[in-house]
Amino acid sequence: MSSVTSQLTDQNKLVIAIDGPSGSGKSSVAKAVAKQLGLSYLDTGAMYRAMTWWVLEKGVDPIDGEMVFDVAKAAQIIPGTNPNNPTIHVGDVDVSAPIRGDLVTGAVSAVSAVPEVRKLLVALQREISSVAPKGIVVEGRDIGSVVLPNANLKLYITADPAAREIGR
Ligand code: C5P
Repeated sequence: MSSVTSQLTDQNKLVIAIDGPSGSGKSSVAKAVAKQLGLSYLDTGAMYRAMTWWVLEKGVDPIDGEMVFDVAKAAQIIPGTNPNNPTIHVGDVDVSAPIRGDLVTGAVSAVSAVPEVRKLLVALQREISSVAPKGIVVEGRDIGSVVLPNANLKLYITADPAAREIGR
């Protein structure tokens, strides 16, 4: 593909970055926007959770950054990008449910603090975003600032505590 054609193709794609604290409703907004506009959807938090699931599966202590990176290199994280059914696999294991459990939730911030893990996952997030046929809605921390600084639209979603309660 010539560079002119690829530029035209890229211009026709819409990349939307959505950030915001947990409980703000950013996932619901991100999925709804992707469905409405016919775009792909990427939950980057699920990717960090899937990596954490893999680290725990390998018996590695999540605070041992060196070991975490060692096993992280071999992880095959495969996020689904359909906003109607955003599953995620590690290799051929569907980890969509276990990544929401207490074990993963308790360890994910340690794993996602390892710089090399961030590098691996950011590269994957950029790759997935670049091949989305019509464009993509990507949600999570640092998306608009670090992962996709050239996104067409960057949203930061917040909700006051009362509104969060109603959503539960
Ligand atoms: O969004 P979710 O709660 O599933 O994210 C789980 C954790 O993954 C966050 O608390 C954060 O530690 C990490 N994360 C991150 N960068 C992202 C998305 C999530 O570090 N882009």
